[in-house]
Amino acid sequence: TCGICVEKCPFDAIEIINLPSELDEDPTHRYGENAFSLYGLPVPESGAVTGILGPNGIGKTTAVRALAGEMVPNLGNYDDEPTWESVLDRYRGTELQNYIESVRDGDVSIARKPQYVDQIPKQFDGKAIDLLDATDERGALDSYIERLDIGPVVDNHIDTLSGGELQRVALAATLARDRDFYFLDEITPYLDIGQRVTAARLIRELAEEEDRAVLVVEHDLAILDLLADTLHVAYGEPGAYGVVTDPKSVRNGINEYLKGYLSNENMRIRPDAITFEEHAPRETSKAAPLIEYPEIRKSYGEGEFSLDVDAGTIYNGEVLGIVGPNGIGKSTLAKLFTGDLTPDVGELDFELDISYKPQYIEIDQHMRVDAFLSSITDQFGSSYWNTEVANPLQLNRIMERNLTDLSGGERQRVAIAACISQDADLYLLDEPSAHLDVEQRVQATSAIRRYAENHDATVMVIDHDIYMMDLLADRLMVFDGEPSVEGHASKPQEMRDGMNDFLSDLDITFRRDERTSRPRINKPDSQLDREQKRAGEYYYAE
Ligand code: ADP
Ligand code: ADP
Repeated sequence: TCGICVEKCPFDAIEIINLPSELDEDPTHRYGENAFSLYGLPVPESGAVTGILGPNGIGKTTAVRALAGEMVPNLGNYDDEPTWESVLDRYRGTELQNYIESVRDGDVSIARKPQYVDQIPKQFDGKAIDLLDATDERGALDSYIERLDIGPVVDNHIDTLSGGELQRVALAATLARDRDFYFLDEITPYLDIGQRVTAARLIRELAEEEDRAVLVVEHDLAILDLLADTLHVAYGEPGAYGVVTDPKSVRNGINEYLKGYLSNENMRIRPDAITFEEHAPRETSKAAPLIEYPEIRKSYGEGEFSLDVDAGTIYNGEVLGIVGPNGIGKSTLAKLFTGDLTPDVGELDFELDISYKPQYIEIDQHMRVDAFLSSITDQFGSSYWNTEVANPLQLNRIMERNLTDLSGGERQRVAIAACISQDADLYLLDEPSAHLDVEQRVQATSAIRRYAENHDATVMVIDHDIYMMDLLADRLMVFDGEPSVEGHASKPQEMRDGMNDFLSDLDITFRRDERTSRPRINKPDSQLDREQKRAGEYYYAE
C-alpha cells in the first residue's frame, strides 16, 4: 500500500497517491485515536449554491454537522473539550470567519434533506401532506408541490410512494422551510432528467431569490454543473481521512476531478482520467442479432397504462441504453422481456436467460455478502472475478457484512455484481447509478462495459445519469408519451439520433466542454441553446 490507506489501495496502484500536504497539519476534526479525520471545511455562502463532489464516507456529513453548529470541531484534540473560540482562531482571516462567528453565536438555523429517502417511511407514519404541512415555514409549500408535480400523491400514505415521489416530497419538505442554511445530500436518485432539472432550478431560486446558503452533495455531474456556483472536491480514503479542498469554479472542479488531478493541491486522486469521446457515436456492432422482436403492445387493463413498442433488433455484445421519463413504461418493457408479463399484441418467442437487476433492490436475506455472491457464481473469489467484478465494485471491504446491514450504495454494488456474475444471454440493469457516489459510478460503468466486451454479453441499462449513459451505451432506446397514461418505445438507434430525440422532448440542449469533451447542459435560451435547437443538434453539437 502507499502508506496512508488502511486497506488495500482501491486503485490497485501503489505509487500514485501522494501524501496531501494538509495531512502535515492538524485536522479540522478527528473522532479519536486512529479514527476518521476531516481536513478543511466547505464554505456556505448566502445567495449561492455550494457543491461538494466526492465519495461517500469522506466526511461530508461530519463537515455539515460542524457548519450547522451541532458539533464543535476539535481541531484534532479529541481529548479536550473543543470550543468555538479555538475554531474561530483557526479560521480567522479566512472565508469562513464570518460564518463561524454566526454559528458560535447560535445564529445559524438549518434544514436538511437526508440521503436515503427510502428510509422516510420508517421514520414517519402518515400521509405525505401531514409531513409536508409541518414544513411550510415560508408559505411556499403549495408552489413546490405544484412545480415538483406531487399534487396527485400528497394525500397518499407515505409508505405507498415510489422512490421518485419520496425524493420530491423530501425536496419540497426541505426547501419549504425558512432557514439560513440548507443542506441537501443528493437530490437526483430515482428522479428522471426533467425532474432533476426542475429540482436544480428550485434550489437555485431559493439561493438567489431568497438569499439563502445552500450546500449540495451530488453525484450526477451534469446536474451538479447546472446547480452549483462553486465546488469543493472532497478526496482521501473513505473511512480513514477526508480532505475538503478550497472552493473551485464548478467547471474547473469537475474537469480536475475527471482528470484525476487537482492542480492547486498538486494531488493525484485517480491513476487515470475519465475521458468522454467526442465521437461520432460508437459504431453499432456488426455482430449477429441477439433478438429481433416485432411491434408489441401491452396494457394493464381498460383505462390503465398502455405501452407501444416499435419493432427492433438487439445485437450480440452491445450495450443498449434506455432513457425516458419516469412512469413511461421502461420497467414494463423489462418485464415483457423477462417473461413476467405477456404482450397483448405481438409475440416474444425468444427463450433467453435474462439476468435482471430491478430499480428497487430487495435483498433482505440474513446472509453475508460473500455467502450470497458465492451462491450465485462459481467464479466467486477467482482472480478473474476479483479483477473484473469485486475490485471495481469495491466489494472487498463489505464481503463480511450482512446483506440487511448494507447502505443503499453498498446494496446497489452487490446487486450489480450479482446481476453481471450470472450466466445469461441478456443483462438488464434498472438504474444502476442510484446511490452510487461519483467514483463508484465510474467504476461500475467500466465494470459493466468491460464485462460486455469480454463476454460478448448483451446489456440493457435503464438510467437517468447522462454521463453514465454517454460512457456506457452503444445505442439508445428512447421512451416518450404521457407518463402514467401511455408510453411509446422507439427502436434502438444510434447515440446521436437517440439523444436528439430524447433531449428535444425535454427541450434541453447539451454542449461539450472544450477541454474535456464532457457533456454540459446549456443555459435555457442562451445563444448556444438557441443555435443548437435551430440546427436540431441537442447533444453532439460541432
Ligand atoms: P460522508 O457524509 O462523506 O459519507 P461522514 O461524515 O458521515 O461521511 O463519515 C466519515 C467517516 O467518519 C466515516 O468513516 C464514519 O464512519 C466516521 N464517523 C462518523 N461519525 C463518527 C463518530 N461519531 N465517531 C467515529 N467515527 C465517526
Ligand atoms: P418506468 O419504469 O418508465 O418508470 P413503469 O413501466 O414502471 O414505468 O410504469 C408505467 C406505468 O404503468 C406507471 O403509471 C405505473 O403506475 C403503471 N403500472 C405499472 N405496473 C402496473 C400494474 N401491475 N398495474 C397497473 N398499472 C401498472
